Amino acid sequence: MPSSSPSRRPTGRFAPSPTGILHLGNLRTALASWLSVRSRGGTWILRMEDVDTTRSRRALGEAQIRDLAALGMESDVPVLWQSDRVELYRMALARLERAGLLYPCQCSRKDLALLAAAPHEGDGLRPYPGRCRGAELRGGEGAALRFMLPPGQVAWVDLLLGSQLDDPMGLTGDPLLFRRDGCYAYHLTVVVDDGDQGVSEVVRGADLRSVTATQIRLQEALDLPRPGYAHLGLVTSPDGSRLGKREGALGVRALVERGVGVRELLGWLGWSLGCLDSPVPCLAEELIPGFSWGRVPTGPVAIPMSWR
Ligand SMILES: [Zn+2]
Repeated sequence: MPSSSPSRRPTGRFAPSPTGILHLGNLRTALASWLSVRSRGGTWILRMEDVDTTRSRRALGEAQIRDLAALGMESDVPVLWQSDRVELYRMALARLERAGLLYPCQCSRKDLALLAAAPHEGDGLRPYPGRCRGAELRGGEGAALRFMLPPGQVAWVDLLLGSQLDDPMGLTGDPLLFRRDGCYAYHLTVVVDDGDQGVSEVVRGADLRSVTATQIRLQEALDLPRPGYAHLGLVTSPDGSRLGKREGALGVRALVERGVGVRELLGWLGWSLGCLDSPVPCLAEELIPGFSWGRVPTGPVAIPMSWR
């Protein structure tokens, strides 16, 4: 089974969708991935996941790049925009099709809602129940395409949470790789790009933990190496609930307007990642020596009441 080689220069990435501002949870994820590779002399990559052309905006992506730069985080290679790489996704999809691993799915959103009988654990996502499995691919019908997951559980190790054993069939079901509207879907693009860019470490929010086994199956089908994974606890409201609209709008600019400076923001983010004993103002560079996955808390972290 392919796996990341320890001798390889660590390469981490932050891959937001340019559909809004980077909120505190996004910034914390970006900083953790940056610190993890910077503390080991590795490469940090910024990638814009803008294949969903209905929601993505170039200007929002450029604002995200500026926000990260204001915090001291800049991509070591030119920022990659997924919308420029459609040919790569087309080739990967064709390879899976030749291997007989795709099938067309004609389910509508309404069908899927009706099929989902019981509420699914936690994240509100429900696994696709495989209703269209066995349907045959016929060229030019404009159907959505799904990847046929092999049976069985996937063992993987989270840098933060330790050994995991997941059944992708029960967590996501067969993932959608190509949408009826002609867009390549998240699971395909993220796996193809991580492989193509030599990413050895994926740091992201705990809300994506449940899709990891599915993405590992896809890496295996495409003969891509498996990166290391770390899933960070989510950033919550001061009372521990999910970020509301107001808190979700707290990005670099909104905080600066409230009088929270960049150094203060970095100090809080660094403290929340275990780099500092207290949230004292500092620069991103100054957090590097204190970073270690062993010190990053695994649970959620609440934003300061005074920032709301
Ligand atoms: Zn279907």
